[in-house]
This record gives sequence, structure tokens and C-alpha cells, in this order.
Amino acid sequence: MKRILFISGPVALFLVWLFFWVLGKYVDSDMNRTRNVDLSQVSQEARELHQELLVADWHADNLLWDRDLLNNISYGQVDLPRLIAGGFALQVFDAVIKTPRGLNYERNDADTDNITLLAVANRWPPKTWNSLLERALYQSQLLHEAAERSEGNLRIIKNKSDLIDFLVHKETKPTIVGGLLSVEGLHALERDLDNVGKLERAGFRILGLVHFFDNALGGSSAGVEQGGLTDFGRQVLKQMEERSIIVDLAHASETLFFDVLAISTRPVVVSHTGIKAIYDSPRNLSDKQILAIADNGGIIGIGFWAGANGDINPASIAKAVRYVVDMVGIQHVSLGSDFDGAVETHFDASEMVVLTEALLAEGFTASEIKLIMGLNQINFLLENLPEEYVFP
Ligand SMILES: [Zn+2]
Repeated sequence: MKRILFISGPVALFLVWLFFWVLGKYVDSDMNRTRNVDLSQVSQEARELHQELLVADWHADNLLWDRDLLNNISYGQVDLPRLIAGGFALQVFDAVIKTPRGLNYERNDADTDNITLLAVANRWPPKTWNSLLERALYQSQLLHEAAERSEGNLRIIKNKSDLIDFLVHKETKPTIVGGLLSVEGLHALERDLDNVGKLERAGFRILGLVHFFDNALGGSSAGVEQGGLTDFGRQVLKQMEERSIIVDLAHASETLFFDVLAISTRPVVVSHTGIKAIYDSPRNLSDKQILAIADNGGIIGIGFWAGANGDINPASIAKAVRYVVDMVGIQHVSLGSDFDGAVETHFDASEMVVLTEALLAEGFTASEIKLIMGLNQINFLLENLPEEYVFP
């Protein structure tokens, strides 16, 4: 009997591990699909123009999944080889730390969480199982480890001088990619103001205030109350401004959105969104919000998934871009793919030339496309990243 227990213990553990491993891979490949893109159909004009681009994107959730960022795998939407193939200069990597069960765009409370199971399935350290802050710190560690193993091909950008240095090197070595870190929702702070500094020390330079539910800072567009900025939120914003950390208003309730813009002294980003006039969703920006972002000197990243634009066709992304450009001018629009954000996209990071072609078809000029596909984001970061990072 004892012998059977002795054998069955490790076997049972192995089976549990195998179950989670298979489950994790299945969920990942099932949730982050793309269509089969035939790149041979892309025009010569789009191909040649794409060669000249510095592509940049505000939002990918790759760190959430059990993959090696350095390996090109057969599923999902983004990894280093695919970023290089897609002509990327910069990719913002998000730490996703808590998502409600039954997630929807209308109303979610904060009582349930899918990420705990994923953290266990992905064999994240036990300290991440109960701590949202630790989940963010661990995802930062994953990106730093990938950068260290990348032989200089992936560089983490933390301040203006990093970015300038990166852009200079990119001219002689076009295959390098810069990564920035962001958190999707400041429930990561666990209601402790001191944790802003911890996130800063871990390399986070963009912080999304909320995700799919209301938190201690304010309301989500998909929350229960969908309220405005709280006192705690005000204190966090002040800290972020002092540290030149960029505020991301994606997922913010309309009240929170305008509360933040009313007191912000620095330009903000809405990293991944759609436009209400193109596709009427509670998560998308109204005309009034687009005008307010322009007024603030901010920037909008247009998403690639159906919940942003109504469908996933590249032409729909181009249409949303056109709407913003016609309303407030070209400098306020950029890309916010939501790659690997449990969404289907038409193309993956290696197939970005398809979007270049769609922007040409929408009537944008080559120099406009350079701005939309990356230069607007790069210019925004050159303006708004901290000068030189000094530990507080
Ligand atoms: Zn999101």
C-alpha cells in the first residue's frame, strides 16, 4: 500500500503538471488566433514602403502566456522573430494581472479572476498566485530575462537616452527591437502608493489605470459603478507625473477618462481602442474623447480585434485610423494591436505589411503611413519618457 502511494504521488503530480501544460497551450493557441494571410498577394508598392518603416505598437499581452519570446512558434501573434520579420522598432509588452470570469464589455465585478489559474498552469512562482503586484513584477522579470538571452536583439527601453541610443543602433542593425513595459490596471498597486516606485524600479514606464473592472483608482468602462477618479487615484497620478510615467487611459470609464484629463499636466495614451463612430462599443472612444485626447497632446492606439472595429479586416483598422486623422490630425493616431490579448486578429506581427497595404488603399501617403505605423509613437515616447532614470 505504502509502495503504491509512493509511486502514485509523483505520477499524480506529473499528471497534474501535464494537464496544466496541455491546458495552457490549448487555451493560448485557441484564444490568440490569426487568419491565413497570403503575403504573396501584397503589392510591390506596399512591400517597398514597409521596408522603410519603423513599426511600433502600444499593446501586446505576450508575457501572459507560457512561451519563450525568443522562439517563433506556430500559434499566437507575437514573439521576437515575428517582430523582426514585421519590421518592428518598438513593442510595448503588458503585464495582465487579473481578468474577471465571464469577461464582457458591459459590466464586470472584481470578485473572480482567471489569471490565478493561468499563473499556476504557467508554473509562475507561488508568490504570484496571491499577489497582483508580484504578477506584474514577474512579467517584467520574464521580459528582462528574454532581453538578456537575446544577444542584443531585444532591448528594454526605460528612458529617452535608451530610446535615442536604440534608434541610432537600429540604423546599422535593423533587426533589433525595443521593448517597453506596461501594466494593464493599477489594482497592481494593491492600494499601496509606495508600489508605484516598485513598478518604476521594475522598468514599467506606462501604466494603465484600470482594466475590466473598477479598482481603487477609479472606474472601468466595463465596471459596475464606472465612476471617476478616487482620492487614491489622484495621489497615484501625482506620483506618476513626478516620475514621468505615462498614463494609459484604455479601459477607463468616461468619467475617469475626463477626470484624469482635467488634471493631467502631461500627454496621455489610450493604448488600444476602437472608435465609437466606426463601431459602437462601450469600450470605444467617442468623438468628444478623441477631441479631448488631441487637446491634451495625447495619442490613440487603434486596435486590431473585432471588439475594436467591428471586424478584424485590415481595411477596418485603416478606416478607424482615417476617422481620427480627419477629426484631429495625423499626430494623434498610432497602433494598439492587443496581440496575444485573447483576441483573434487578421494578421500576426510578422505580417504587418498587410496593414501598410490597407493604409495605402485608404489613401494615406507614404509619409503619413510612416507616422501611423510607428513614428508617431516613437515621437511621443521621445517627448514623454523620463530623461534619465534615477532611482528615487
Ligand atoms: Zn486591454
